[in-house]
Amino acid sequence: MKSDIRVCGAWRDRHDRPVYTLGGTCPDCGAGTENSAPAPFDPDDPYGEYRRALKRRRRG
Ligand SMILES: [Zn+2]
Repeated sequence: MKSDIRVCGAWRDRHDRPVYTLGGTCPDCGAGTENSAPAPFDPDDPYGEYRRALKRRRRG
């Protein structure tokens, strides 16, 4: 299941913390939104391969 949660694309400049929304624009500042960072269980996790490699090395 893919999450539809998005985050304000300019939150680093305009907010103290990420502003999440389901819409295409930030409800706070009106900036465009982008997909929120992948959750740890996300199958597309870019660090998953790295973690699996570490496990293999520890085991071997
Ligand atoms: Zn914003």
